[in-house]
Amino acid sequence: MADPTILVVGSVAYDSVASPEGERTEQLGGTAVFSSIASGYLTRPGVVGVVGSDFRDEDIRLLKDHGVDVSGLEIAEGNTFRWSGSYVDDLNMAVTLDTQLNVFETFNPTLSSDQADTPYLFLGNIDPDLQLSVLNQMTIRPRVVACDTMNLWIDIKKEPLTQLIDQVDVLLINEAEAAQFTGENSIVNSASALLDHGLKTLIIKRGEYGAAIFHDSFSFAVPAYPMARVVDPTGAGDSFAGGFMGYLAAVNSGVEAEDAEAIRRAAVVGSVMASFAVEEFGLERLRNVTQAEINERFTGFVNLTRFHPLGGGQGLPTP
Ligand code: AMP
Repeated sequence: MADPTILVVGSVAYDSVASPEGERTEQLGGTAVFSSIASGYLTRPGVVGVVGSDFRDEDIRLLKDHGVDVSGLEIAEGNTFRWSGSYVDDLNMAVTLDTQLNVFETFNPTLSSDQADTPYLFLGNIDPDLQLSVLNQMTIRPRVVACDTMNLWIDIKKEPLTQLIDQVDVLLINEAEAAQFTGENSIVNSASALLDHGLKTLIIKRGEYGAAIFHDSFSFAVPAYPMARVVDPTGAGDSFAGGFMGYLAAVNSGVEAEDAEAIRRAAVVGSVMASFAVEEFGLERLRNVTQAEINERFTGFVNLTRFHPLGGGQGLPTP
């Protein structure tokens, strides 16, 4: 297998989830899993993470079958990370019921020399000290480094998280976390405070309302795909990130001003992947989606958002 083009770091988990549509226990999840599987439809991902001796063989196979290089997945003595959450009251906001770090408590990722020069790096949501440790081990500065985070780390690890944000090109964060990190209430003010950290692209995720992309030279909004039924929002953000970064890696694009078209398209690919993630529990839909379905939904987004500007310097009609 050729070397990965994108290295994905994050949690590999067994999730227990309750939503208005039912519940599941111990389903495969974790930030690195959703984002590597989503990006595996576009490019070659490699995963860096740790699982316990209880990790199921079929789950390793699932990753491999989606083109994910698992040579960076350490198997340690102990139990795999567990997360349990509920969306029963609000599909847009997970309430964490329980987090068991287990093997992540002592995890200290060491990149191989092949992994250390991967051109695209996605630091999925996990302890910012681990995200920083991976970034510091890269021997060649990747073309694009993106990271995600969550409220827990803003609460208890703001200092290393700030250090990390100061160094990455792209931050993906949800609207409530952006407000929590910056102390600003409007999305425009929190975006401007975050861009001041030197980010090239900022993606503020807004659940069922889609995502807003802020860049020094432009802004862009991508809707969420209108769905009749959302079953389990777990992993939507990570699948968005996998689609976004996977597309940039596949077309070898950066995130500079001249890459604006690729950034916009990457955001739409992110929204496409997120829409599949939420359609069924866990990976049940995302793992089975076909390239034809991905392309069809991408075209659906084009149609959903396309309109013509007024030609010839015209203004809107007046009464
Ligand atoms: P999201 O894309 O934000 O819905 O991410 C959901 C995933 O985050 C779940 O599959 C969880 O296993 C994982 N997760 C939840 N809490 C944490 C945490 N503290 N650190 C790392 N991963 C987490």
